[in-house]
Amino acid sequence: MEPGPGPVGSPHRAPTLCSIESVPSREVRVRVAIVGSGLAGLAAAVDLVDAGHQVDLYEARPFMGGKVGSWEDPDGNHIEMGLHVFFFNYANLFALLRKVGAIENLLPKEHTHLFVNRGGDLRELDFRFPIGAPFNGLKAFFTTPQLDWIDKLRNALALGTSPIVRGLVDYEGAMKVIRDLDRISFQQWFTSHGGSLHSIERMWNPIAYALGFIDCEAISARCMLTIFMMFASKTEASKLNLLKGSPHRWLTGPILEYIEARGGRLHLRHRVTEVHYLDPGAKAEGEGPRSAEAPHVTGLTLGTPEGEKRVEADVYLAACDVPGIQRLLPEAWRRFPEFDHIYQLEAVPVATVQLRYDGWVTELGDDPGAASRRRDLSQPAGLDNLLYTADADFSCFADLALASPVDYRKPGVGSLLQCVLTPGDPWIPRKVEEIVEATDAQVRALFPSARDLTLVWSNVVKLAQSLYREAPGMEPFRPDQSTPVSNFFLAGSYTRQDYIDSMEGATMSGRLAAARILGRPVALATNDAVPAGVA
Ligand SMILES: Cc1cc2nc3c(=O)[nH]c(=O)nc-3n(C[C@H](O)[C@H](O)[C@H](O)COP(=O)(O)OP(=O)(O)OC[C@H]3O[C@@H](n4cnc5c(N)ncnc54)[C@H](O)[C@@H]3O)c2cc1C
Repeated sequence: MEPGPGPVGSPHRAPTLCSIESVPSREVRVRVAIVGSGLAGLAAAVDLVDAGHQVDLYEARPFMGGKVGSWEDPDGNHIEMGLHVFFFNYANLFALLRKVGAIENLLPKEHTHLFVNRGGDLRELDFRFPIGAPFNGLKAFFTTPQLDWIDKLRNALALGTSPIVRGLVDYEGAMKVIRDLDRISFQQWFTSHGGSLHSIERMWNPIAYALGFIDCEAISARCMLTIFMMFASKTEASKLNLLKGSPHRWLTGPILEYIEARGGRLHLRHRVTEVHYLDPGAKAEGEGPRSAEAPHVTGLTLGTPEGEKRVEADVYLAACDVPGIQRLLPEAWRRFPEFDHIYQLEAVPVATVQLRYDGWVTELGDDPGAASRRRDLSQPAGLDNLLYTADADFSCFADLALASPVDYRKPGVGSLLQCVLTPGDPWIPRKVEEIVEATDAQVRALFPSARDLTLVWSNVVKLAQSLYREAPGMEPFRPDQSTPVSNFFLAGSYTRQDYIDSMEGATMSGRLAAARILGRPVALATNDAVPAGVA
């Protein structure tokens, strides 16, 4: 057996602890093994190294970051798992980025949501207004040309009778009502409150697809209304940022540097294949009463490029995705409902297509000036924001050469469109060339002015299991970060936290898990903590 990270045999080991009673934490240097280096694992690691503990992150993939992972191909093209936008309501992720000195890596975009319809028809949901939330939101919905007047009035009826109104004076009370709406879909809720199917199609479906990769009929009302609640209560919450470049350079890179500077370690290509444990309660039928003593993890087996290894720690945190945790948990633990429920959760497929052109695709003008701007590779032109569409198989997309220029703009070429294909189901089995051809054709239908541009490079990343499916009725199956196994904890955006499966949700789950491990009260940042100044 390979010695585990940290001081094996040290008098400070705490082999039977449930959580680290951490005062004074630096006197008890506990070894924590974290499975998974997504944002949940990284966020937990930051809090644990801050508390003076020895952290080792074990990551199955050759790169860190999980669903927000990225890498560079041999030709210098930056590739990522998916298009990532950062809303200003990401209080916990922003606090983390401030701590590691990376907040400046976010590029705020204009406070307007852009819908591109077939034929180059651009419509806005424009939140720019001298008066803040909720009035900027009301103004946005009342003036958007994406919907006609009847749809707008029906929208107003639905939103006006929603818990969001209560939330303006009683946030927690409204969130309680919203949590209870987990049992129905957003479409059920919206249409039963007077909303129209036409606005679902033209506006809410692209937004639902962008948030959860499923449509309004499939997504829970809780999920959508949670976000609306945040947007309504804070002016900047609905404003978004993109990173200045690749996540591994500007997001997860600085977080890892912070962890490593405090003694933490990341082990890539280290897949945990088995959890070893002692389980006094695991008696076979007829062997007498089960012991009430909780199971206790004693080590992990890992598959690595150097062969199989075994490591030991004092505390274990599984910060996996849904398929990862379902594979990792020992079968015998399913006798605990907390673990068994995890197998009710599903993950949704998604595919991300990158298309590079020899000009600026989202420069929409048809006049000669626009035509020459479209061709001028020395000077970027077009829409520098996240773009939604109801008229393509991708729900949202962006020109990263404009929106995240540091790594994605390349000399001598133009737009790099990154398109998120949702629902992903039909695309996973299809050939890369077919996916590229279909996506390129749909881009040209949205931007006819780009018909003469040539597609010069493309890439497809398929994720057969990505976000957990935020379908109605799933909330009760999401596990807490503490588990029935005394020294085993869970993190990951699918675990219980009050936001959606997102970078913020992952960060929250990691912070919650670290607090449980440290035996400290949970101190999550709230939306109120997002200072207006950063907008
Ligand atoms: C295409 C796409 C677009 C997205 N867009 C946005 C967006 O715009 N805004 C937003 O906020 N969120 C977005 N998200 C969601 C966001 O990326 C995730 O919610 C978040 O990154 C999840 O983090 P996590 O740490 O919980 O899980 P993950 O990132 O999935 O990390 C889990 C890690 O555990 C590792 N692992 C699993 N099993 C093992 C094992 N046995 N041994 C070792 N390692 C293991 C995995 O390899 C992985 O690295 C998007 C996701 C995708 C896929």
